[in-house]
Amino acid sequence: MDTDTKNRKITEERKVSGKKLMTFLTITIITVLTAAVIMLVIKRSGIREEQTILNSIPGVAAQAETLPVPQGAEDDAADDPAIWINYSNPDSSRIIGTDKKGGLAVYDLSGNQLFYYPDGLMNNADVRYGFVLNGDTIDIMAVSNRTDNTISLYRINKTGSLDKIHKRQIISELEDEVYGLCMYKSPVSGLFYVFMNNKFGVIEQWELFQDADKIDGKIVRKLKVPTQVEGMTADDEMAVLYVGEEDTGIWKFRAEPDATAEGALIPKSGEKDNEYIKYDIEGMAVFILQDGTGYLVVSSQGNDTYAVFRREGTNEYLGSFRITDGTVDGVQITDGLDVTSHPLGTLFPAGLMVAQDGTNMEGDKQAAQNFKLIKWESIASLFSPALLLK
Ligand code: CA
Ligand code: CA
Ligand code: CA
Ligand code: CA
Ligand code: CA
Repeated sequence: MDTDTKNRKITEERKVSGKKLMTFLTITIITVLTAAVIMLVIKRSGIREEQTILNSIPGVAAQAETLPVPQGAEDDAADDPAIWINYSNPDSSRIIGTDKKGGLAVYDLSGNQLFYYPDGLMNNADVRYGFVLNGDTIDIMAVSNRTDNTISLYRINKTGSLDKIHKRQIISELEDEVYGLCMYKSPVSGLFYVFMNNKFGVIEQWELFQDADKIDGKIVRKLKVPTQVEGMTADDEMAVLYVGEEDTGIWKFRAEPDATAEGALIPKSGEKDNEYIKYDIEGMAVFILQDGTGYLVVSSQGNDTYAVFRREGTNEYLGSFRITDGTVDGVQITDGLDVTSHPLGTLFPAGLMVAQDGTNMEGDKQAAQNFKLIKWESIASLFSPALLLK
C-alpha cells in the first residue's frame, strides 16, 4: 500500500469508528432518558397512589388543645402525653405532657396549663395507680429523663401536681441515652415495672420497690429488637408489652420478668405489609374494654395517621384515621399518644385520646408544639362497624 492509500484507509476507519461512537452515544442517551422518564412516571403514580390511600383514610377534628410547651416554634419539644384519671372526680383528670427540651407540663381537660416542672430533658411518660407506700396508696408516674439517663419517678397528687419520689438517681445501663418508656403493673404479683429503651433497640425492665418513704428500682430483665425503638405500652390485664420498632412494625412480648424474651411481630403493623402505615412507628396505647377486648392505637408518624388493631387475639388491623383541622388545627407527625376508655366527666364522657402535634398552628402561624385532645366517640364513629365505646 502506498502512503496515500494508507492515509485514506486510516481516515475511513476513523470515520467508521466515529460513526459507531456517535450511534453508541445516541443509543445510550436515549436509553438513559427513557429510563428517567419511566422512573418519573412510576414515582408520580406512586405519589398519586399514596395520596389516594391517604385521602381514603377518614379524619376527625380534635375538641381541644393544650397550651404549647415553653419552647420555640421550630423546636421538636413536646413529645409524649400521659392521661392521669382522677377516679374520684373525673372532670379533674389531667394530661401530663413531656417537653423533651425542658421538663413536664400538667394540663386540665380544656388544655390549660396548671403546673410546669423544669426537671430535665423528659422524653416519655407513663402513669400507674395504687402503689402502696408506707400504708398510703398513691398514683405514680415514671419518665425517661435524658439529662442524666435516669428514670424520674413522681407521686401524682389530687390536683395533678407532682412530687419527685425516686429514692436516688435511678441510672440506666443503656448505652448512649435513654429514649422510650412505659409502665406495667403485674396482674400476677401486683408489682410495678418500668420498661425503658435506647435507640439501639435494647429494652430494660425495672422493678420498682419501696425504700423508706421513697421508691427505688432494680433491673430484672433485658429485651432486644433489631433496630431503633421508642414507643411502647403495656397491657396490664393481658401481661403483654408492645414495642414499636420504628422502621419495622410492632413487637408483642410477654411482660412478666420471668417470661420468654422472644417477641413476635404483629401482622400488618409495618409499611411492608400495610399500605396505610408509613414509618416511623411511634407512640402507642391500649384502649381497654371489658372481657379482655379493646384496641391498640398506634402513631404512624410518616403519614400523619393512627393505626388501630384489636387488643385481643392476633391483634387484627382494623383501619386507620387522621386528626384533621376543625376549631383547633389538625395533627401532624405525632410522637407520643395516650388513650383511655374511662369516662372523663362532661368533656369526654366516652373516653379520650391525646396526641402530640408536631406542627401546631395558631391561625396561619406556626407555634410551639402541643397536645391535642380528641373524643373517643368521634374516633369510634369513623370505623365501620363503629369501634366500641365501652
Ligand atoms: Ca418529634
Ligand atoms: Ca406516654
Ligand atoms: Ca422516635
Ligand atoms: Ca397541627
Ligand atoms: Ca393550635
